[in-house]
Amino acid sequence: MVMTRTDSDSCPGVLRLHEAADGPLARIRVPGGHLRPSQLLTLAEAARDLGDGTIELTSRANAQLRQVRDAVELESRLEAAGLLPSATHERVRNIIASPLSGRVGGWTDAHGLVPALDAGLRADPRLAELPGRVLFTVDDGRGDVSGLGADIGLHAIDDSDYALLLGGSDSGLRVPADRAIELVLSAAHGFLDLRDGQWRLHEIPNGPTALADRLLVDHPDLATAEVMELAARHNIPIGWLNQADDLVALGAGVPLGILPARTAEFIAAVERPVFLTPWRSIFMTDMDEWTAEQVVRVLAPMGLIFDSASRWLQVTACAGQPGCAKSLTDIRADAAAAVEEGRVLPSGTPQPALTDLTAAEVVAAGRQHWSGCERRCGRPRGAVTDIVAAPGGYRLTPPRS
Ligand code: SF4
Repeated sequence: MVMTRTDSDSCPGVLRLHEAADGPLARIRVPGGHLRPSQLLTLAEAARDLGDGTIELTSRANAQLRQVRDAVELESRLEAAGLLPSATHERVRNIIASPLSGRVGGWTDAHGLVPALDAGLRADPRLAELPGRVLFTVDDGRGDVSGLGADIGLHAIDDSDYALLLGGSDSGLRVPADRAIELVLSAAHGFLDLRDGQWRLHEIPNGPTALADRLLVDHPDLATAEVMELAARHNIPIGWLNQADDLVALGAGVPLGILPARTAEFIAAVERPVFLTPWRSIFMTDMDEWTAEQVVRVLAPMGLIFDSASRWLQVTACAGQPGCAKSLTDIRADAAAAVEEGRVLPSGTPQPALTDLTAAEVVAAGRQHWSGCERRCGRPRGAVTDIVAAPGGYRLTPPRS
């Protein structure tokens, strides 16, 4: 499909708030999803003092604050916490890395490449021109983030080499780890050379192939290989996870990705590294067993999910009312009621397509995304039942089998 954009992308940041229906919204880029405890505390305090009291987790492992009352104060707090290191490049720092990398599984530590990629983006004035929609991924080979459709991605194929992904697919190009960031930055320049207003690489006709060809001209010594298939996976690690260094990580689900400031303050008080994930969950890492047990004991009653069988993990929702003027209803309230009233059925339960349902009539099986209109913002990739608010009521569309 040929797609030319005539408008600039409207992705919000901290310096450019989005005027949502419920007030200004700030999106804070968190490269690799990594937050130091002090940074999480800054976000929590900002959410409570300057926002609506919650931190929204996004499908790009970033954070959002709603109803921002004092943008200048927010900017100053985030800057002091190291969460706004560049005024010019803040919206291009969309980098997702395998969250558990370097601690549990994977060929290599993907987080080791994130600071260099982030610094490389920020150091290059031209790369500030990248649309805010452009996504970078670094997958340590387990395949958890390579299926997210990044414009430019790295996927470890062993402990010292990466496959280059372009437009969500394997380009066939292979690069050693010590040249990987250079190649990604070169690809970012190539995208800017090729684009004619498009926001994403896949929107450019033949974009990924054209970009791979250019990269081979500029880097003729790159190895090539047969392309790999990369599928979107939905296997969120939840609960107790033993790290390679005998410490413990905890995967915690966050209902509908809404993390209350008070819960975030408790997490920060553990004083261990925290990772936001593209599944709107969090990983708390580097704990000894006693600490991890206390964390579960305190945070489970506060609503964090440590049970991988929880139905909350099947359900995502867009912002809906009152945050989005396009929404026909309070979508999060309806989705939460479906979970709490037992109307989320196990995966595999037969699921017919239905229309014109009241919220209370919606009963859906397995992974499901609730949307307040047809745009279906935040819909996860892969097989998901769509539950969309329409003028006549909810329309329920199961995934094609
Ligand atoms: S899906 Fe529609 S209602 Fe929901 S946030 Fe997006 S535009 Fe708003």
